[in-house]
Amino acid sequence: MKRIVEPAKEIPVAEECDICIIGGSCTGVFAAVRAARLGAKVVVIEKMNSFGGVATQGLVNYWHSQYDTEFKKQIAAGMSLEVVERLGKRNAVAEIKECPHKAFMFNSEELKIELDEVVTEHKNIVPFLHTHFAAPFVEDGKLKAVFVENKDGRQAIKAKVFIDASGDGDLAFRMGVPFVLDDFLQPPTTCAKIRNLCPEGVNYYETVKAHYEEFGLEKDCGWSGEIPGCKDIRMYAETHVFNTNASDARQLTNAEIKGRRQTRAIMDIFRKYAPSENMILLSLASYIGIRETRRFAGEYRLTEEDVLEGKSFDDTIANGSYRVDVHNKENGGFLFKYLDGRQENFTFFGMEKGRWRPERKVNPTYYQIPYRTMVNRKVDNLIFAGRTVSTDKAAFGAVRVMINLNQTGEAAGVAAFQALDSGKKVCDINITKLRETLKSGGSILL
Ligand SMILES: Cc1cc2nc3c(=O)[nH]c(=O)nc-3n(C[C@H](O)[C@H](O)[C@H](O)COP(=O)(O)OP(=O)(O)OC[C@H]3O[C@@H](n4cnc5c(N)ncnc54)[C@H](O)[C@@H]3O)c2cc1C
Repeated sequence: MKRIVEPAKEIPVAEECDICIIGGSCTGVFAAVRAARLGAKVVVIEKMNSFGGVATQGLVNYWHSQYDTEFKKQIAAGMSLEVVERLGKRNAVAEIKECPHKAFMFNSEELKIELDEVVTEHKNIVPFLHTHFAAPFVEDGKLKAVFVENKDGRQAIKAKVFIDASGDGDLAFRMGVPFVLDDFLQPPTTCAKIRNLCPEGVNYYETVKAHYEEFGLEKDCGWSGEIPGCKDIRMYAETHVFNTNASDARQLTNAEIKGRRQTRAIMDIFRKYAPSENMILLSLASYIGIRETRRFAGEYRLTEEDVLEGKSFDDTIANGSYRVDVHNKENGGFLFKYLDGRQENFTFFGMEKGRWRPERKVNPTYYQIPYRTMVNRKVDNLIFAGRTVSTDKAAFGAVRVMINLNQTGEAAGVAAFQALDSGKKVCDINITKLRETLKSGGSILL
């Protein structure tokens, strides 16, 4: 690649703060709120026009269960529950009683407004929307600021501690935190809200199976779900853009275009072979939903065995019960591995049941995420939260759902405050105090 030299120039410092967070999904927002509630001045940088990430801009409107796999023991609460309660006051969330592991479906548009409220209620949070993290500023070997780009041009945000909640780990990447980028990455999906796509009495999968080739689609399948109060509107996540590395600019561009074309093709199948009078594309996700890109190396890498055997850790900051769920490389669908040894593989061709291990009398009912998956000694003052936490591929398949990642956000906020308050490196904070502070702020720690 040809190179040119960018001339050096002075950059205005837009804000000086205690903690700077890159990325404003619930992960980033919850980190900001937990740190602000402890007294820190926090800046959140979000490149889109709202908070919420995949849950709002990506249209993905399901949070899974806050209970263990038997629905007996509550294993999570904190800000996820706070936000669910707030949405409840506006009829913008519904509990899914018939499928308790799915737990909550919400209205993504209402969540955008609710997160605005949550952020602006905290006067010591300075939000920046439409603001893109561009590069880190390192002086004397220490991360001192980040450069951002927005309507005001290029600016710097100075902070003492940083949280990377950007999904792809853009800051961690630029700081040289080691990562792996697998040859097979779980494929991304363009989500869409469509009214009356599949008329009553018509089988969605049989219709798509019969005609996918005519409309240039591959063998594929995913899932769809309702939106509270909108019986005729569903959120579709039925296709995948296979073989995509969404952390590569050109591949991401192609995936966006292909993902939208897939949505049109699905609609065209129904237009031709099972038309309904008032089928309408109501909205497309603002960006393609990215499942997996770089997996960073933390001080500990959570493994498939840790998850499926429910290993407990002294530095646990989150609990989860969502199964291992890895979207397939081809033929659509996903491979589920449950904590009780069952396995299900959904593909274009149907569903195969089996076991990944023999039956046992006693099974784990939840797993844990340790704080050490969120830090790497390479950078003293950087915590990663959200899908940047350190896991192996299969563990990532379980950890990556929002009910889990929201907890990592909360933990990052509290840990960042503690590092600031104690003057310690993020790797060396007092874990007992971290867990106690999380608990007293509403988190469940087991
Ligand atoms: C199609 C699909 C369906 C899914 N279904 C479910 C489901 O039903 N339930 C569930 O719980 N999970 C589901 N998941 C998984 C889950 O949604 C994601 O793993 C999770 O949202 C990741 O959260 P995050 O906070 O790490 O990242 P994100 O939600 O991606 O948030 C990252 C934020 O950082 C911002 N950002 C990124 N780069 C920059 C930058 N350089 N500068 C400034 N801001 C930046 C982004 O705009 C975004 O707001 C699904 C994922 C996909 C893709």
